[in-house]
Amino acid sequence: MKTDWILTVEGVNKTFDGFKAISDLNFYLKRGELRVVIGPNGAGKSTFFDLITGRTKPDSGKIEFGKDTDLIGLNEYQINRLGVGRKFQTPSVYTDHTVWENLQLSLKGPRGVFATLFQRITPAQRTRIDELLEVIRLQAKRDWRAGALAHGEKQWLEIGMLLAQDPELLLVDEPAAGMTDDETHRTGELLISLAGKHSIVVVEHDMTFVKQIARDGELTVLHQGSVLCEGRFDAVQANPKVREVYLGRGK
Ligand code: ADP
Ligand code: MG
Repeated sequence: MKTDWILTVEGVNKTFDGFKAISDLNFYLKRGELRVVIGPNGAGKSTFFDLITGRTKPDSGKIEFGKDTDLIGLNEYQINRLGVGRKFQTPSVYTDHTVWENLQLSLKGPRGVFATLFQRITPAQRTRIDELLEVIRLQAKRDWRAGALAHGEKQWLEIGMLLAQDPELLLVDEPAAGMTDDETHRTGELLISLAGKHSIVVVEHDMTFVKQIARDGELTVLHQGSVLCEGRFDAVQANPKVREVYLGRGK
């Protein structure tokens, strides 16, 4: 049986002012998979996300979403509308609105801030927001101003806002950065709970967190814009090439 890939990246190259940030990159993600991508600073992890989301255009190669949707040539907005959601490192929530309103504003459909907040909310939308609050575990803080949330809670709210758009593919860049150990662990649980329903790529540095969410799944190591190795956590950790790349950089 043919594998059901949600994302196919093949032979992708990207040069910035003569510097090869991405070099003959191949990456395949199964539908519903949760994949962790690690790699030293400058390995090209964020650029990889930029290429998938249309923020940056590759010089060559193939990037396909689902069975046969070519993402190259589409702009960021079009790619997002197809079902690709991206979470940047720093949370961007509407600090003066409540948690509930932030989720309401993010629901799929035509809307501006004014129209959304003054329109009557449908029962289906209310149910969906309740579901999202449960997933991100912020039910008790639904009426809090988002600006008053702790850093980790803001990150969860932003994940909830991404989920409100029902993305098939979620790209999450260093979610644990700046979090406490407890917040980090809870973020791991959240991402694990989303796998299967969504296909997810998580870029991360924190190895405790990587181990938690990688579980039995594959881990991808990026180095100088290419895949250095792929495999289970223990195998990757024991790989001499990986050790050299990390130890060589004092990481
Ligand atoms: P990572 O996220 O793995 O730390 P990045 O993808 O941010 O790495 O960066 C990979 C390399 O590409 C770095 O050397 C970075 O300076 C370079 N780079 C990334 N984006 C741009 C850009 N828009 N213009 C020029 N250089 C860039
Ligand atoms: Mg980065």
